[in-house]
Amino acid sequence: MEALQSLMAAAGGGKPVIGGVVFVLLFVGERLAAAAPRPQIRHRLIHNLGLWAIVLILSPLIIAPLTAYGANQLIWERPEALRAGALVLVADIILLDLWTYWMHRAWHRAPIMWRFHKVHHFDEFLDTTSAFRFHAGEVMVSALLRLIPITLLAIPFAHVIIFETVFICAVMFHHSNLHLPAAFERALSRVFVTPSIHWVHHHAIMRDTHSNYAAIFSLWDPLFASRSATARTPAMKIGLESVEDKPLLRLILTPFMRKA
Ligand SMILES: [Zn+2]
Repeated sequence: MEALQSLMAAAGGGKPVIGGVVFVLLFVGERLAAAAPRPQIRHRLIHNLGLWAIVLILSPLIIAPLTAYGANQLIWERPEALRAGALVLVADIILLDLWTYWMHRAWHRAPIMWRFHKVHHFDEFLDTTSAFRFHAGEVMVSALLRLIPITLLAIPFAHVIIFETVFICAVMFHHSNLHLPAAFERALSRVFVTPSIHWVHHHAIMRDTHSNYAAIFSLWDPLFASRSATARTPAMKIGLESVEDKPLLRLILTPFMRKA
């Protein structure tokens, strides 16, 4: 495990490589075995990848240095026994996932944050590319706020990088349109967030939009009473209730417009 940690840290987390491989596998997989019929919405790809391109440009300039800087500003030192090892790594991933769950609730419930996060929810269908449809403002603020648990818990930088790698793979997976055998997905959903759980979060019914916030581990929604009782169906309408998707430039400007 230590060898894996140092290898990933040395390779800049290996995040782009692992993320790239998982992206290709899911992108091809959901086209070979789709769970829901794919509508002909060509602009989706431009919107999702266009928003991603902005994050990609900003990431090495702002987001990555910010995370690296914050992870080095620890206010206390962990005892030797809590700095490495598989159990500590898993505990750190669980804690960061719990933080992400509450952040996601905040992105929905605080009106100023919802202005940014709704750009993600305008998507009228879901697939692996939806995992990259986030406003750069949301990505940057999330990276900044994540420094709070990192600093308070003195989470090692290598653990943050491994969390980010697991997180992006989980986000691609739960947005994907990959068909999974029902029994397998049901078993998997007892521990991890599967597409059947997360697609309900994108159901174009406001009650469901404000539910199922978890990203990696599925226990948070039942634990904090935010799990929707709605079951995913292939014909389920995706998007935001009574709202249509917008052109790319409008998506970028949405949080700053008077009528968002
Ligand atoms: Zn959301």
